[in-house]
Amino acid sequence: MTEPSIFTRILGGEIPGEILAETDRVFAIRDINPQAPLHALVIPKTEQYRDVTELAAGDPGLLAELVQVAKELAVEHANGEYRLIFNNGASAAQSVFHVHAHVLGNLPEDRLVG
Ligand code: 5GP
Repeated sequence: MTEPSIFTRILGGEIPGEILAETDRVFAIRDINPQAPLHALVIPKTEQYRDVTELAAGDPGLLAELVQVAKELAVEHANGEYRLIFNNGASAAQSVFHVHAHVLGNLPEDRLVG
């Protein structure tokens, strides 16, 4: 059996973490190493999908729900606008192989490109 991911352990209360939002199928936490004033991770509760490619193919409705939660976080914690990032694979900076979206908001001026 594989170990639960770090995100599953946060959801279960085994590891501390700030839960920002939760639905039946999705939850959001604040990133421990924020790259912007709002930096949340939106995560399906299932660990079944490693990355967004698998998620989009396997359960597009769940991907849509994740985007909806991202928007709601941006409205609640930023000005409603947001950057959504999925890292896919180790060489693309993915470190946790339980699919998650980075939601960045209220970006400083010097982060508005790229
Ligand atoms: P990835 O590199 O896989 O796209 O993103 C993983 C993210 O998880 C990183 O931005 C990292 O800062 C965050 N992270 C890793 N461990 C923890 C943790 O224990 N708590 C929280 N809140 N975030 C974490």
